[in-house]
Amino acid sequence: MYQRSIDDPAGFWSEIAEEFYWEQRWNPDEVCSENLDVTKGPIKIEWFKGGRTNICYNAVDRNVESGNGDKIAMYWEGNEPSQDGKLTYSELLDKVCQLANYLKSVGVGKGDAVVIYLPMLMELPIAMLACARIGAVHSVVFAGFSADALAQRIVDCKPKAVITCNAVKRGLKLIPLKDIVDTSLVESAKNGVNVGICLTYENQSALNKVDTQWKPGRDVWWQDVVPNFPTKCDVEWVDAEDPLFLLYTSGSTGKPKGVLHTTGGYMVYSATTFKHAFDYKPGDVYWCTADCGWITGHSYVTYGPLLNGASVLIFEGAPNYPDPGRSWDIVDKYGVTIFYTAPTLIRSLMRDGTEYVDRYSRKSLRVLGSVGEPINPTAWRWFYDVVGDSRCPISDTWWQTETGGFMITPLPGAWPQKPGSATFPFFGVQPAIVDEKGRELEGECSGYLCIKKSWPGAFRTLYGDKDRYETTYFKPFAGYYFSGDGCSRDKDGYHWLTGRVDDVINVSGHRIGTAEVESALVSHPKCAEAAVVAIDHEVKGQGIYAFVTLVDGVSYSDDLRKSLIMTVRSQVHLLDDVWSNNLITNCHFLFLTTYNFP
Ligand code: AMP
Repeated sequence: MYQRSIDDPAGFWSEIAEEFYWEQRWNPDEVCSENLDVTKGPIKIEWFKGGRTNICYNAVDRNVESGNGDKIAMYWEGNEPSQDGKLTYSELLDKVCQLANYLKSVGVGKGDAVVIYLPMLMELPIAMLACARIGAVHSVVFAGFSADALAQRIVDCKPKAVITCNAVKRGLKLIPLKDIVDTSLVESAKNGVNVGICLTYENQSALNKVDTQWKPGRDVWWQDVVPNFPTKCDVEWVDAEDPLFLLYTSGSTGKPKGVLHTTGGYMVYSATTFKHAFDYKPGDVYWCTADCGWITGHSYVTYGPLLNGASVLIFEGAPNYPDPGRSWDIVDKYGVTIFYTAPTLIRSLMRDGTEYVDRYSRKSLRVLGSVGEPINPTAWRWFYDVVGDSRCPISDTWWQTETGGFMITPLPGAWPQKPGSATFPFFGVQPAIVDEKGRELEGECSGYLCIKKSWPGAFRTLYGDKDRYETTYFKPFAGYYFSGDGCSRDKDGYHWLTGRVDDVINVSGHRIGTAEVESALVSHPKCAEAAVVAIDHEVKGQGIYAFVTLVDGVSYSDDLRKSLIMTVRSQVHLLDDVWSNNLITNCHFLFLTTYNFP
C-alpha cells in the first residue's frame, strides 16, 4: 500500500475517499494540486478540489444510516470514578443537531468562527461536530489556558460565539472556567472584539448556576436552550477546501499560530491514519488520553475514530486521581482495547511503581500508542512490558498540529519494533532528512526532517498570516515542508526523532538534542522526569542545564548527581570521551553540567 501511495497518490487517495459520502465528487484531475517550492510561486496545497462533503455527516449520520445507530459512539468517565455516561451514534446525532440548530438560531453560519473552551465532557466533541455540520469553523482552546491566552485567540479569530461551561474539577482542584471566559471577553472587548454569545454548559460535577457570574443577553445556559431545538438539522455541504477548524499552536517566537485545516483532505487523512496505525477493528473500545484542546483530540478523539464508527472513551479527570491506578481501572471498566497516550504520562505513572498497574487485569488491551515527544526507550519498555504485558505493539506516532494526522508511525504487527523509533512513514508521506544547506541525505544519516510532497491532512495556511506560513515552514529548505524537528535514520531505515531543532543545544559546535540527554537521564532508575535547556557559556557557546525530578522517596545527593551524569555520559555515546565532570549544583534537584571539549 505504501508503494502504491507513492507511485499513484491520486488513485490511492481517490479510492479511499470514495468510502465517504460526497454530495458532489471532486474533479478527477484535481485530486491533488500543490506547490511546495517558494522559489516557484506561492505555496499551495489542495486536495479533492471541486468535491463537496461534510465531515459531521460522515462521522455521525453515515454511521446511523448504515445501521450502527445503536452502537456506542462515546463513553464518558468523569472526574469521580462514580461518574460516567454514554451516547449511541443515534443519540449523538440528535445532540449534535440540537446544538447546530441553536447555533444557527443565534446567527452562526458557514465560515463563522466559534471558540470552544470546554473540558473533556461529551459536549466538547458534540460542539465541534455541530460547528462542522453547519460549516462554522471551530477553534478549540485548551481549557487549561489562561484568560490572556484565550483572549489572544478570541481577538485573532473573532468568533460569533464562545462555548464553555461553569467549571471543571480535575482531581481535587476546581477550575472556574466561566470566570476565566468572562475575564477574557472583557480583554477581547478592549481589543475591539465583542462576542455576542457565551453558551455555558452547566457541568453538574462542578459548581451550580448560583455561583456563576452572569451577563444577561450574552450568557446563555446550554441546558436552558439547546434541548428545546429539533433533533434534525440539515447538513451544510461545504467545499473540500473550505475551512474546518483553526487550532492555535506555539511558535518559537511571537504570537500563537492559527493552524488552519480544511475539510476533505483532513477527513480522509484522519480516518485513514486512525484505521491503520491502530489496526482498528469494529469491536474496539478506543481511549486516547489527549484533550480536544490539542490536535490529538481533534484527529484522534473526535474525527478519526468517529469517521471509522468507533466507540471512543472520553475521560474528564486526572490520571492520578483518586490514585495512580485510575488509568488501568478505566481500561478494565470499559474493556479498552486501544490505549493512546503520551510519554510524559507513562513516565509519571512509572514513577509510582508497577503495583498500581498490577492491581488491574488490562487483558482487553491490544494496541498501545504514544505521541507528543520522542518516547525514551526506558519508558517504551515499561509501557510495553508492564502496561501491555509484552504482547501489545506500540504505535509511536510522530506528527504535528500542522500535519493533521500521523506522518511517521508503526503499523502494529507489520514490522519489528525498535523502542524509541517512530519507524516508517505512513501511506503517501515522503520524508526527507536534509542537512543545513537543504541537501537531502541518503541512507544512515542525521539532520532536519522535511516532507517532500503534500499529503491530504496537511494544514493549508496560518490564519491571517500567509507570510509567516511560508517563512516558517517552506522557506528554510526550498521545495520542502520543514517540520522543525531533527531526525536520524538508521541503517535499517527506521526514523528516530530527536526533538525540535530549536531544542538543540550547540556545545562547542556539537549539536546535542535536549531529548537525547533527557532520555538518558530518565533511564536512570532514580530519575522520574528531566528537562534540559541550554545556558550561555562564555567559552563553549552553550552549556547544558538539567532540571531533574527524582522518583518518590529518593533524596538528592552529590553521589546521585554524579551517577546521573555518568548515565548521560554513557548513553550520549558520541560524547562519551569528552563529557566533563565539571558540575555545579545550584539547588535541590537541579544540576549544571558543562561540556569540556578537549
Ligand atoms: P504538536 O503540534 O503540539 O502536536 O507538537 C508536535 C511536536 O511534538 C513535533 O514537532 C515533535 O517535536 C513532537 N512529537 C510529537 N509526536 C512525537 C513522536 N511520536 N516522537 C517524537 N516527537 C514527537
